[in-house]
Amino acid sequence: MAKARILLVEDEGIVALEIKNRLLKMGYEIAETVSRGEDAYEAAQKTFPDLILMDIKLKGEVDGIEAAVRVRGKLDIPVIFLTAYSSDELRDRALKTCPSGYIIKPFKETELNILIKLALQKHVKEKKLMEMADQLHDSVQLSRADLAEADKRLKDQVEQGKQRELVIERNYEIQKIISKVLRASLEPITIKEHLQRTLEMILSVSWLALEKKGSIFLTAEGEQELEMVAEQGLGGHLTEACARVPFGYCLCGRAALTRKLIFADCIDDRHDVRFDGMSPHGHYCVPIIYEDKVQGVVNMYVRHGHKRDERTDDFLHAVADALAGIIERRRVQRRLRYMALYDNLTGIPNRTMFFDRLGQSIALAKRNNRMLALLYLDLDKFKRINDTLGHDAGDELLKETARRLTSCLRESDTAARMGGDEFTVILTEVTNEKDAAAVAGKIIETLQAPVELKGYLCPIGTSIGISIYPTSATEAGALIKKADMAMYAAKTSGRGNYQFYSGEEVTFGLLVDYAVKFVMFNGGEWDHNKWLDLLLDLQRRGFELSDADMTSIGLVLESLKPLRNSAIGNQNAMSLLNLSATVFIQNNSGVWNNRQWMDFRRDLAASGVNLNDETAYMVSCFLESLKELYCSFQNAEA
Ligand code: GH3
Ligand code: MG
Repeated sequence: MAKARILLVEDEGIVALEIKNRLLKMGYEIAETVSRGEDAYEAAQKTFPDLILMDIKLKGEVDGIEAAVRVRGKLDIPVIFLTAYSSDELRDRALKTCPSGYIIKPFKETELNILIKLALQKHVKEKKLMEMADQLHDSVQLSRADLAEADKRLKDQVEQGKQRELVIERNYEIQKIISKVLRASLEPITIKEHLQRTLEMILSVSWLALEKKGSIFLTAEGEQELEMVAEQGLGGHLTEACARVPFGYCLCGRAALTRKLIFADCIDDRHDVRFDGMSPHGHYCVPIIYEDKVQGVVNMYVRHGHKRDERTDDFLHAVADALAGIIERRRVQRRLRYMALYDNLTGIPNRTMFFDRLGQSIALAKRNNRMLALLYLDLDKFKRINDTLGHDAGDELLKETARRLTSCLRESDTAARMGGDEFTVILTEVTNEKDAAAVAGKIIETLQAPVELKGYLCPIGTSIGISIYPTSATEAGALIKKADMAMYAAKTSGRGNYQFYSGEEVTFGLLVDYAVKFVMFNGGEWDHNKWLDLLLDLQRRGFELSDADMTSIGLVLESLKPLRNSAIGNQNAMSLLNLSATVFIQNNSGVWNNRQWMDFRRDLAASGVNLNDETAYMVSCFLESLKELYCSFQNAEA
C-alpha cells in the first residue's frame, strides 16, 4: 500500500525537522515542508498531498488558519492543525474551517499518528460519500432526462393523435362534400348549374387555404379548348379573358394539355392571361379526366406566396374525379337522347322528335290562333339510285337531301326524316297556303340541282303533299295522314310537284280519276306487283276496298288498257275518260241502256268531244265496267 504523503507547514525550522523525522519514522512520506502560510496553497497544488499538517502561528501575514481556508477553498485535502498556543478564540476560528484534526504541541507521537490515520480514513470515507453523492446526483439528472424524454414522447403522441383526428375530420369533410356533389348530380338541374354548385361547395371548405375565387371549365365538344361554365368571384375582366382557353394556354390550358395538376404560388411565366391592375395570386388547376379524356379543369385561386399543400391537392383531385364520372354520365345521356331523337344517317330530327315538335307546334298554333303547314316529302324513284349506284350512294343522297332541305327553312321550322326516303317539314310561320306553296316550290327546286354520286350527276326529284292546320285537320295524326295522301296525289300527278290536301271526300269520282291516272302513268301491262302497288296506294289515299271493289277496279283497269294504247294519246285519253266519268256520274242511274248511251254521246259532243266508232267502243267498255264499280261503291256507302 502506498505511503500517505504529508505537506508540513511549520515556520520553526527545528520543530519542522523534528516533526518531519517523526513522521518519516511513523511511515509517512513528506511531500514538502513550507514555513509560510502564503506558500501553503501553492505547495498543496503542486504536490497534492494526502494531508496537510498546519501550524497555526506562522511568521508572515497569513497564519495557518487563513492558509487552511485558502487551500480548502480550492482543494479537497484534509488539514490537521498543530498549535502550541490554544486560546478559545484561536480554537473557534480553527474549528470554523472544519479541520480534520487539532493537536496541541507538544504531542505524543502516537497521538499524532492516530490523528493522522483517523483524518486519512475520514477523508477517504468522505470522498467515497462525495462520489456516491455525485453518482446519486448523476442518476437523478439522468432520471430527469428520461422523464423529460418520456414527457416529450407523450406530447408528440398527443400531437400525432390530434393530427390524426384532424386528418379523419378532414377526410370526413371531403367525403361529405363529394357525396353532396354526387347527390346534386341526381337533381334535375343542368350541368352548368351543377358545376356552379360544386364550385360553391369547394369554396365553403374552411380548412382549404383558398381565395374565395375560382372557376370550372369544360372541354368544348370535339375541340382542344376549354369553355368556362361556372365561376365565382372572378369579376368581369377575368370572366371575359378566360371565357375560352385553348389547351396549352395559361395555367388551366396547361393542366388540360399535360393532364396534370398545375400549381403556381404567384403570377409566374406560365400565367399568360394578364392585365393591368391584376392582383397578385397563385393557382391550383386540376384537370378533370375520364378514361384518358380531358373533360375540363377545376381552377382555384390562392394567395400570392401560398405553400402547396398535399391535402388540398388530394381534395381537389377527389372533386375532379367525382366530376369526371358525372360529366361522362351526362355526356352519355345527351348522346342517348340525341340518338333517340335524331336520325342516325342524316343528323336531322327523327320521327319521334317530329311527332313531339308537331304536338308542340299544334298547341302553340291553337293558343295563338295561327296556322301551320305540314309538308310530306317522298323522293321520286329513289330506289333506282340504290339499284344502280349502290346503297352507300343512296345514303349520300339522303344526307344531301337533309342538308338542302334544312337550308330552305327558317330557324323556327322543323325538318325530319320519317324513314326511308320520306321526310317531313313543319312550317310554323305561315299565314296562308301561298307561303307553304312557296316553301314547297323552293324545296323541289333546291333538290333538283344535281348531286354528284360516284361520278354521275343525279337530280333529286321529290313529291310533296301539304296539309294545313286547322283547315285540313286539327290533330297531329290526321294532319300527317292528309299530307301523306296529298303527297300520293302529287306522285300520281306525275311526281316532282307539290299538292295540297284537297279536302275532297273519298268519292267514286275521285276513285275513277285516280284509277285513270294510275293506268295512264303506270303502263298497260298489269302484273301482280303493279296490282299490289295500286292497292297500297289506294289505301294510302284513304280508300278502303272490299274484295268486290277490287274486282270492279280490276275490270275498270282492264277496260282502260286498249284506250291507253290507242292512237288518241295518253293526255287525250285521260281527258276523255275523266269527262266520261263526270257525265256518267251526273247521269248515272245504275242502268246503262241504248238510250242513255245516245244521251251520253250527245252530252260529250256538246262538250266538244266527238267519238269515232273505235273510241266510242272503248269508252262504252269503260263505262260498262264503271257500272260494276259504282254499284259496289254505292253498296259500301249504304
Ligand atoms: P317513288 O317515286 O314512288 O317514291 O319511288 P321510290 O323508288 O322512291 O320508291 P319508295 O319511295 O317506295 O322507296 C324508297 C326506297 O328507299 C326503298 C328502300 O330500299 C330505300 N331505303 C330505305 N331506307 C334507306 C336508307 O337508309 N338508305 C338507302 N340507301 N336506301 C333506303
Ligand atoms: Mg320514294
